[in-house]
Amino acid sequence: MAAQPERDYDLVIVGASFAGAACAIAAAQYGLRVCVLERKRDPGLKLHTTGIIVKEAAEKTWLNKVPQDLVRRVERVRLYAPNLRDVALQVPDYYFLTTDTPNLMRWLADEMRDQGVDLRLAQSFTGASREPLAHLGRWHVPGIGRTRWLVGADGAKSRVAQRFDLGRVEHFLYGVEYEFAGLELREPDALHCFVSKQFAPGYIGWATQNPTGVQFGLAFRHRASRTGTPDIDALRARVGHRIGIPDDLSPSAIRAGLIPCGGPVTPIARPGVILTGDAAGIVSPVTAGGIHSAWQHGWAVGEAVARHERDGGPSPELEAERAAPRYRIKRALRWAFDHCQTDWPFDLMLGSAPMRWAASHVYFGRRSP
Ligand SMILES: Cc1cc2nc3c(=O)[nH]c(=O)nc-3n(C[C@H](O)[C@H](O)[C@H](O)COP(=O)(O)OP(=O)(O)OC[C@H]3O[C@@H](n4cnc5c(N)ncnc54)[C@H](O)[C@@H]3O)c2cc1C
Repeated sequence: MAAQPERDYDLVIVGASFAGAACAIAAAQYGLRVCVLERKRDPGLKLHTTGIIVKEAAEKTWLNKVPQDLVRRVERVRLYAPNLRDVALQVPDYYFLTTDTPNLMRWLADEMRDQGVDLRLAQSFTGASREPLAHLGRWHVPGIGRTRWLVGADGAKSRVAQRFDLGRVEHFLYGVEYEFAGLELREPDALHCFVSKQFAPGYIGWATQNPTGVQFGLAFRHRASRTGTPDIDALRARVGHRIGIPDDLSPSAIRAGLIPCGGPVTPIARPGVILTGDAAGIVSPVTAGGIHSAWQHGWAVGEAVARHERDGGPSPELEAERAAPRYRIKRALRWAFDHCQTDWPFDLMLGSAPMRWAASHVYFGRRSP
């Protein structure tokens, strides 16, 4: 394929996942010239997310336009103690959406294009330099062109953060997940969550029905000093028969990745460069949910850049700082879980009112009964 000529943009975004798409669409709505670089040739490949969308994101963001055949509504959480006693948790009118994530990511790419975004697939960002005097205040991105603003929406190991000496994510969970295409769980309308210090220290295991099959995974607290991967097969051997995953079924695909869990990075921006989404550490340290927060922050950054460019609005760098959730209480809970996790309270008290209350708060937040 012949290289495209270099062009002038207002905004170049690295990463075409949730944060990058939100930032791009928000800025494009204001008429900015936006380019998104994505290193994958197909945005639906090599996923590292389960892709579960919370109700707020499903209703109050652009994601409310997702075609219905790409999502499946799940209204209940079934929480299992380490001894496999279980309890069902539900809140009226609340739900999660599980997704056909590969096609969701392709749909997002189409949405960006429809909004006039210049999406460059198979295009890795490697660096950018300040333009000399004639184009003062602009970046030159080799092979792409000039831009006034550069946004790093390039995930937990952000190249943009590294290249511009911005804050780096240092605390992670590590998640791994099997996909079983075409399989149906025994109870498909629940998000199954397994608490176990043995199999998922620092987080949980899960199984969920999506529009095309089943996802089964676990995450654990990742420490540089600890080698090895979480033993997803051991968890599967323990719970698979209970939820309807046959022992002899091979996974059709595997997803895996790092999940930031230490709160937002510092600094999140320098003049003309801003981080968002996982690159900025914007993921709940307790639930590890990052899609909604990536979308909200990415959108806020896209809007801030657009308002600044159009009307001389406030500094987008400061707006990016302001829009970043601090997660103070959730960071404290993360610390407590990292240092004090034990299995026996779950075994003993799973169905009790205090445990139901606490679990409902984690899953349903303010909407808990
Ligand atoms: C196993 C797992 C399961 C998860 N499940 C959920 C869930 O169910 N619900 C939820 O809310 N959150 C979940 N999360 C967290 C959530 O997926 C992330 O918080 C969210 O995807 C963050 O979006 P993002 O756009 O910031 O970054 P990412 O989704 O990480 O996307 C970064 C993009 O940048 C691209 N990129 C990276 N480097 C470059 C480069 N140099 N040049 C060009 N492109 C580049 C990548 O290819 C990628 O497309 C999960 C995470 C993991 C690891």
